Amino acid sequence: MPIKPRQERDLRAGIVEMAERYDYPLQWWDRRRLRDELASDRYLGAVYDGASGHLHPLEYAFGLARAALAAGVRIFEHSRVVELVRGAKPRLRTACGEVVADFAVIAGNAWLRGIAPELESRIMPVGTYIAATAPLGPGRAGALIRNDMAVADVNWALDYFRLSRDHRLLFGGRASYSSYPPPNLRAVMRRRIHAVFPQLDDLPIEYLWGGYVDISRNRAPHWGRLAPNIYFARGFSGHGVASTGLGRPAARRGDQGAVRAAGPVREDPACHLPGGRALRTPLLVLAMAWYRLRDALW
Ligand SMILES: Cc1cc2nc3c(=O)[nH]c(=O)nc-3n(C[C@H](O)[C@H](O)[C@H](O)COP(=O)(O)OP(=O)(O)OC[C@H]3O[C@@H](n4cnc5c(N)ncnc54)[C@H](O)[C@@H]3O)c2cc1C
Repeated sequence: MPIKPRQERDLRAGIVEMAERYDYPLQWWDRRRLRDELASDRYLGAVYDGASGHLHPLEYAFGLARAALAAGVRIFEHSRVVELVRGAKPRLRTACGEVVADFAVIAGNAWLRGIAPELESRIMPVGTYIAATAPLGPGRAGALIRNDMAVADVNWALDYFRLSRDHRLLFGGRASYSSYPPPNLRAVMRRRIHAVFPQLDDLPIEYLWGGYVDISRNRAPHWGRLAPNIYFARGFSGHGVASTGLGRPAARRGDQGAVRAAGPVREDPACHLPGGRALRTPLLVLAMAWYRLRDALW
């Protein structure tokens, strides 16, 4: 949803492009139409995608785990891989032991330190945080987001929110581009919620959590191979709940289609984040300060 006229122009152009290039229908809602569904005056309008939805990510993860177990997969929690030794049979070393495999799939999000340097230089770990308010009750929650849609603005440091099944507001935002958790997170999240929904001023935040996402330079995910027997899926850039499912074929040995789709890692210098491991975070903090200023001013 746009907050600035520049963002509205870009979003409307995006609707045309999605229709013309991909035959994908999106609707433009003006301010009045949006106000019918969302009790906020912050936005100039909205792009409404009626074909999308939202889900409970933990239940989805449990469902995936159950399906994997049923297919014969064995899951070993709390066994961090500290080293990957490449070769005819990749060896994955942990603090207490090692696994020797025919194939390995690297899908470790922002925590790849020391495992695969060529992937590490292509991602930036960025912190993002969610606040869950006290339950609003069905009446007040229903009046806030009438059609129960999931909502996001298009600022660089964006806000994203939806209702939970138990009628809380789940509100995400306050990206942290340094490797430190933001100070006064609760107060910051309250301010952000208030900017969208001033009518919720009385509502306490009951839970706060966050984590790191692996941002790629073009914010698009990337599947590939580091060696004929080592696959990777990376750079989901904070949008991985749906799109990580597309990487599943990469783990299927003998699937020729997937092997073709997962070519060797492209040696495109544009994929690297500038500054290397030492300078990429300070450079990104600077770049983000510029984008935040831009969001604030025009
Ligand atoms: C607060 C927050 C809000 C988000 N909101 C959304 C949203 O609204 N929509 C959306 O699409 N996405 C959202 N995301 C992003 C989404 O969670 C990720 O894009 C997605 O989980 C990436 O999937 P993945 O499989 O690449 O990594 P993950 O799901 O993070 O899985 C990586 C796994 O690898 C394990 N691992 C890492 N390193 C090692 C190692 N060395 N040894 C062994 N295991 C290792 C980790 O423990 C983890 O289990 C959000 C993320 C956060 C933190």
